Amino acid sequence: MEKKRKSRLQRIKGLIAHRKAFRNFVKNNKMISSFINYRHITHDLDKLLMFLFLPVSTEKIRKIHKKKAKHHNLEVDNTIDILDVIESIIDFEVARETKDNSKLTAKEWVQYIYDRKEISETLYRDYQFVLKGLRLTE
Ligand SMILES: [Zn+2]
Repeated sequence: MEKKRKSRLQRIKGLIAHRKAFRNFVKNNKMISSFINYRHITHDLDKLLMFLFLPVSTEKIRKIHKKKAKHHNLEVDNTIDILDVIESIIDFEVARETKDNSKLTAKEWVQYIYDRKEISETLYRDYQFVLKGLRLTE
């Protein structure tokens, strides 16, 4: 059965819930909250602002965000910013709470994209390092 497409309002509510889940994760991890450098405030903020003010489809906005946001493009110019890696891991770990299309844990997701050769050996190692640091390897 085909799933009904979400309305713009549903997307906005979902995104707000996702950003809140992201903030909670950071708040509950004393180790990272000190150096996460406002990522818990800026995470997906561009997307939220576009949803609210850009008069184009949410589908298009999601594409723009995926293409532009650094936490979705970790390997573009051969340097990997560890904060982007952390943001990406938290993004996926908390997505399970609010998005119905992602049921994998961050650890499972990293393994999944690595097995499909979507990420390099280097990024895989960085992801493993961050997963350990955030205690998401259990
Ligand atoms: Zn994002």
